[in-house]
Amino acid sequence: MTGNSEAQIADRPFQTVLIANRGEIAVRIQRACSDLGLKTVMVCSDADRHSDYGSRSDHFLCIGPANAGKSYLNQDAILLAARLTGAGAVHPGYGFLSEKAAFADAVARAGLVFIGPPASAIATMGDKISAKRAMIAAGVPCVPGPDTALPDDPSVIERTALEIGYPVIVKAAGGGGGRGMRVVLEPSSINEAIALTREEARQAFGSAELYMEKFLEHPRHIEIQVVCDNHGNGIWLGHRDCSMQRRHQKVIEEAPAPGIAPDLIGPVGQACVEACRQIGYRGVGTFEFLYEDGAFYFIEMNTRLQVEHPVTEMTSGVDIVREQIRVAQGVPLQLNQSGVACSGHSIECRINAEDPATFMPSAGTITDVVIPDGDGIRVDTHIHCGYRVSPYYDSLIAKLIVHAPTRAAAIEKMRAALAGMQVEGIATNLPFLRKLLEDEGFAGGETDIHYLEKWIGQGRSQ
Ligand code: ADP
Repeated sequence: MTGNSEAQIADRPFQTVLIANRGEIAVRIQRACSDLGLKTVMVCSDADRHSDYGSRSDHFLCIGPANAGKSYLNQDAILLAARLTGAGAVHPGYGFLSEKAAFADAVARAGLVFIGPPASAIATMGDKISAKRAMIAAGVPCVPGPDTALPDDPSVIERTALEIGYPVIVKAAGGGGGRGMRVVLEPSSINEAIALTREEARQAFGSAELYMEKFLEHPRHIEIQVVCDNHGNGIWLGHRDCSMQRRHQKVIEEAPAPGIAPDLIGPVGQACVEACRQIGYRGVGTFEFLYEDGAFYFIEMNTRLQVEHPVTEMTSGVDIVREQIRVAQGVPLQLNQSGVACSGHSIECRINAEDPATFMPSAGTITDVVIPDGDGIRVDTHIHCGYRVSPYYDSLIAKLIVHAPTRAAAIEKMRAALAGMQVEGIATNLPFLRKLLEDEGFAGGETDIHYLEKWIGQGRSQ
């Protein structure tokens, strides 16, 4: 925080933050730390060691080879880097180790501050059955279906599915990343679906525990951002719509979700804050819901910072990363719920290094970049001319975010910003996004989670 006296900064539990991540989010966290007067340590893999963005931090350390398992996921190497550089806290960003309860625990045991929730809260929300149980207890609306694991007995399974009503979805309790799920349309296929999903779950997640719920056929994806401190205070910062997805990956996000009445979402937001209180949550987090026919259904909580946090920052005026670090420092939230005032509309497009027609990742050296700027335009990125996009990691190279008084104006602004953005030397999805921003369905808003796949299937992105 600018304006802090040196004495105040020295009082804080840490002065140096190790950023255990890479790319745009490492840069974003670095900016928040320097706004707060904190030093930073960035770690990188061998594949990222020549990235310019490392020079923004006070230390830039290579901790392992390109293989993320041996670098960005290498807990011992990260803790050693923290010890060698005198870092007092670790920010995990998103992905990698951000939702590993064991890592949060290891950081705390090393005497460092984990910039995220307590390991116990990560563990509760990381298991989908215990998460659902916690949500029901706090009054958060959930998808119809039991909050217990499915037994082995086929007759009980068949009865459960009939009680819920077909179609149902069978999910692995330990699942994630859109894997470990199977939709079942009719009773004749339920037992086979259970057997297949159980085996997949055992192999992919190390636990064969499954549960079942109603399959919603045309939902939207709407999520609520929360921030909680160490002193029992929590707020929610409005809602986002992330229904534009391809293969369960978000492509465009916006805030607020179009067409949602404040008196409908208000009690859901309050219930999310209550759930945080009940599970002892601290830091930032997101409650993800499916929304269908005027009702919200909780599906999961992300116990970390999300890629799409900027659209909420643009509408709420709250710097979410800065707040996340401040609450980790033990500082009480400055804002209460009545002080949260969201205004205007914000849209984020994920710019990926990928072929706009086949979606195949594209690696190589960027030979030229033009980053759009102007009032209400923000670009979160780590790329620059000469940057080498490596084939080892996620293809996200930039996030283009706009803010305007209305949704229509935000769409106009995004069209202009996309037209002005150029990345040469590699393929990007910019042409795809430009087409999508011209689509009448998107302009109309309130599209469901299947819209984009259908749109692509109809050849409309070409
Ligand atoms: P993951 O942790 O793997 O991301 P989620 O529970 O968030 O799993 O579900 C991922 C996606 O699967 C959702 O965004 C949605 O598209 C779909 N999905 C999950 N549960 C349901 C459901 N009950 N009905 C319809 N679609 C669902």
